[in-house]
Amino acid sequence: MTKTRVLVLNSGSSSVKYQLLDMRDSSRLAVGLVERIGEHTSRLSHTAFTARQTREQTGPIADHEAALKAVAEELARDGLGLDSPELAAIGHRVVHGGRTFTEPTVIDDAVLDEIERLIPVAPLHNPANLTGIRTAMALRPDLPQVAVFDTAFHTTMPESAARYAIDVRTADRHRIRRYGFHGTSHAYVSRATAKLLGKAPEDVNVIVLHLGNGASASAVRKGRCVETSMGLTPLEGLVMGTRSGDLDPAVIFHLARVGGMSVDETDTLLNKESGLVGLCGDNDMREIRRRVDEGDEEARLAFDIYVHRLKKYIGAYNAVLGRVDAIAFTAGVGENSAPVREAAVAGLEELGLAVDGDLNAVRSGEPRLISPPGTRVAVAVVPTDEELEIATQTYALVAGTG
Ligand code: ADP
Repeated sequence: MTKTRVLVLNSGSSSVKYQLLDMRDSSRLAVGLVERIGEHTSRLSHTAFTARQTREQTGPIADHEAALKAVAEELARDGLGLDSPELAAIGHRVVHGGRTFTEPTVIDDAVLDEIERLIPVAPLHNPANLTGIRTAMALRPDLPQVAVFDTAFHTTMPESAARYAIDVRTADRHRIRRYGFHGTSHAYVSRATAKLLGKAPEDVNVIVLHLGNGASASAVRKGRCVETSMGLTPLEGLVMGTRSGDLDPAVIFHLARVGGMSVDETDTLLNKESGLVGLCGDNDMREIRRRVDEGDEEARLAFDIYVHRLKKYIGAYNAVLGRVDAIAFTAGVGENSAPVREAAVAGLEELGLAVDGDLNAVRSGEPRLISPPGTRVAVAVVPTDEELEIATQTYALVAGTG
């Protein structure tokens, strides 16, 4: 029997998201989510498209091992179990691959050790990713398991973009540099944008704006990332749902000296209590727009700060790339918020950028152009699909090995 299925696992600290795909036509066979692992109110929701079934269970799921076993049972109930001979591999999302992992990688002991060695630069994410991998390996030790890294697409950034201007020895000792994140999305969307233009990725320069709850921009020259807005951690860059993005690092000293705040308190402030939520109390762009339309000044200012930052990055990445063929909006806000897209591009006609009001208002799950015909730079909405990208990269690596 041909092995054409790939299970994609995204293991967070208290959740596991999964999708089972058939790579013959990239179709989804099943998707699901286990939340609140380790609590009494854990919840597993599972949808099998093959059986047109959605099931939910609540109740304690103690740890990742129990979570994955529950997922395996759900899949088995729909005839899609982990023991299926059609399963080719499991693809794992791993947040931080440092400088080591520039490509998707088949996981062995050495790879596990290296992901572990990177924990100091990704203390929140890599431990959870590792737990997911180890559990999956214990369940199916014979099956190829592949790590697909959020940072990998950005490893092509030149040193001039990847280095901070701090003492080189200190930076190297602590592996401080700009790694970038959301790379799987930036890779997928930049290629899909080239396709939308009817061109090969090598023939276009694209600015990708991944605007979800986390948000990042990237400049992609001829298919290779040359700059991105997130840095050592996902805190740098754009204004996000709860993260501040760029700020003068001296704000942190000031908060410590004058505000008496500890490192952990400042970490929480900047990662969880800043960005849109810090500015106006809401981090959902739908709610913010509703408030703006009602004349709420706080929401208006939050929106304006969000868009102002976005515009600065669009301008900067125009300078980095020299020539831009397309700007692609993606993720929750980028795919759905016409006002954000319109405001981000407003006034940039000199850069060849414009948005057509009618095209921008269209709601669709398909990649589409929203710039008026004939403008020099294409402005596009390109839905991201990180799971499909992980499955595609995983399958490309293992196809033919079984
Ligand atoms: P993440 O994967 O980073 O959690 P998503 O890419 O799913 O985030 O984006 C979530 C965000 O997208 C929400 O917080 C909300 O601000 C925004 N969003 C989702 N749907 C809409 C919509 N219809 N209009 C405007 N914004 C939306």
